[in-house]
Amino acid sequence: MIKILNFIDGQFQEPVENQWLDNVSPASGEIYSQSPNSTASDIELAYQAAAKAFPAWSQTDINQRARVLSKIANLLEEGLEKFARAESKDNGKPINLAKTVDIPRAASNFRFFAQAITQFSSESHESVGQNAINYTLRKPLGVVACISPWNLPLYLFTWKIAPALAAGNCVIAKPSEVTPMTAFLLGEICQEAGLPKGVLNIVHGEGPVTGQALIEHADIKAISFTGGTATGVHIAKLAGAHLKKVSLELGGKNPNIIFADCDYEKMLDTTMRSSFANQGQICLCGSRILVEESIYEKFKTDFIARTKSLVIAHPDNEDADLGAIVSHAHMQKILSYIDLAKQGQGKILCGGKQVAIEGYENGYYLEPTVIEIDSIDCQLNQEEIFGPVVTIMPFSTEAEALQIANSTAYGLSASVWTNDLKRTMKFTQELQAGIVWVNTWMLRDLRTPFGGLKASGIGREGGLEALRFFTETKNVCIQY
Ligand code: NAD
Repeated sequence: MIKILNFIDGQFQEPVENQWLDNVSPASGEIYSQSPNSTASDIELAYQAAAKAFPAWSQTDINQRARVLSKIANLLEEGLEKFARAESKDNGKPINLAKTVDIPRAASNFRFFAQAITQFSSESHESVGQNAINYTLRKPLGVVACISPWNLPLYLFTWKIAPALAAGNCVIAKPSEVTPMTAFLLGEICQEAGLPKGVLNIVHGEGPVTGQALIEHADIKAISFTGGTATGVHIAKLAGAHLKKVSLELGGKNPNIIFADCDYEKMLDTTMRSSFANQGQICLCGSRILVEESIYEKFKTDFIARTKSLVIAHPDNEDADLGAIVSHAHMQKILSYIDLAKQGQGKILCGGKQVAIEGYENGYYLEPTVIEIDSIDCQLNQEEIFGPVVTIMPFSTEAEALQIANSTAYGLSASVWTNDLKRTMKFTQELQAGIVWVNTWMLRDLRTPFGGLKASGIGREGGLEALRFFTETKNVCIQY
């Protein structure tokens, strides 16, 4: 049985109170490792290590910081196969996805912020007529917390850690207890890359235990969190009481709006991915498909045929389109939404059932599911399911499409498929979403701001926005 350990002060350590969690491989349902359920004692050790490392790291030449972060990126790339296998086993995602998306993007996070910090600059303002010059300093905050979810484990973990470290902070990071493995392996790479002791501390455990102890720590200066909206609200309340800086990247229920004038084949290919990639467990998935009436029946026929042809298989299978759902509890949650359709909230057009994979009958596999709905108020249309389940419905006018698209509590992302410029401009202006894609989906450029409106979050990360979040701004005014 593999024992995952905390990484504190540059060393792997067992949890102080010796509490452990079972870690399950969703592809087989087997327990294959154990990870610490760390408590406030471990968080305190991590804090002491981080606080001790902060003066030196925050004063380290940015070129040296950049060199260490680039080395981590290189080592992640060299370890692609090992990391991808570990991610796929821990999360249930197809090995090909882990190899082509998760691990390369985790490496890119380090590479990007290694470069970005060398280009990070601040403003100066000459107060003409007053013989004064103002300039802005952006200083690292101190010890910060990074908390991430299970759906893109290493990718989202490093999305936070890389800018925090680049900006000169020391970090206590907690991966999801559901997928701790690649965060554990990252510790080894940090040692090899020569990241000084205590600069990054990785502490494992459950949200309400370890995560709670971390966000309650009085001396943590900022919390960067990605996860569910309910957890985000809880963190915001606690952070508010202590005036900690927070960045919250939360849930989504993203519309995918398809007009008849789009490039149909490209739209169909992309919609397959935006619906079911990573078993639909991506916050940016287009889980509400809205189709212009004139092509609705054709789209329905083609989309269902393509959905039925998707390969659901063990994640090691190179041909798998869908692997396993991350956990038994999450599969049950998804099935409970499918039940709502059976009870009358919608009509299941395809899928809806569990799948038994030969030799892995205890794994958590689900058919990709398409549900037709006729009311935008139903839970299927309003609540985040976060699985391989999409709803579809027709619309007749632009106004109606916009109204449906904006009708949920969320506002993370939206996709629009059209070749009409006027319509493009209208939708990009009026869609309530932090990210709008036109004729594409999940095309990411790390320089761009990332985050959501409404129940999808507060603040923006990505590019210079992340470096701004992880620094404190100070204005200096000198009169001469
Ligand atoms: P979650 O909120 O249950 O957990 C996220 C992280 O928070 C985990 O590490 C968990 O241990 C921790 N946590 C839970 N309770 C805590 C507490 N009281 N104090 C501190 N930490 C605590 O979310 P999840 O189920 O892991 O992830 C799925 C959710 O994440 C979905 O809603 C999805 O949309 C969202 N998500 C959002 C984005 C984005 O960029 N907006 C990206 C990926 C996932």
